[in-house]
Amino acid sequence: MNPRILLVEDEPAISLPLRDRLVRSGFDVEVVDDGNIALERATAEPFSIILLDIQLPGKSGLDVCRDLRQRGIQTPILMLTAFGETSDKVIGLKLGADDYLAKPFDPLELLARIEALLRRTAPTPSTVLTFGPIQIDTRTATVTLNGQPVHLSAREFQLLLYFATRPNQLVTREQLLSEVWGYDASINTRTIDVHIGWLRQKLEQDPKKPTLFVTRIGLGHQFVPPL
Ligand code: CA
Repeated sequence: MNPRILLVEDEPAISLPLRDRLVRSGFDVEVVDDGNIALERATAEPFSIILLDIQLPGKSGLDVCRDLRQRGIQTPILMLTAFGETSDKVIGLKLGADDYLAKPFDPLELLARIEALLRRTAPTPSTVLTFGPIQIDTRTATVTLNGQPVHLSAREFQLLLYFATRPNQLVTREQLLSEVWGYDASINTRTIDVHIGWLRQKLEQDPKKPTLFVTRIGLGHQFVPPL
């Protein structure tokens, strides 16, 4: 899949040739020319990087940058600053932008900056475990199901991670007690069942007929990843 770029620029004389250049360099590019639409698009869908002009109709690039960071959107942002906006680039970086480039810029330099940002922010492959529609990011302790975030408690996450690193293995209650709960005296096997029940509620297609978190009566539990 090509990296996706959201290009926010209201001057077609800049955005059209730039879009063509980026597409030829192997990126998927969506162009928007309004700050409010940029905020909407960048919140609704994951982009690999956002190229953000400052002077925009609707909402300035600086406000878009600030609002995205306030919403917890961490997509790398490269501000495109016009001549005379040197103080804006400083503000942009303070508001959470990752880099800036002054117009007019050499497209080759822009490409180099984009590649550098993508390298810097790319997750190490081994930190993301994928099981069909389920993705577990061990670095950020986040889980998504069909791309939608799933809220797990810390214990649920530990339990899921324990299973996910042992796909198809039979795991005994004793193992779970010792390695997920650390032999906390206040917990009993019922606690394990309750937590597995919560994982089923959050991740199984039909929690009443679990296929991911399977109980083998008298033996233990098994995480069976979807094919
Ligand atoms: Ca502009």
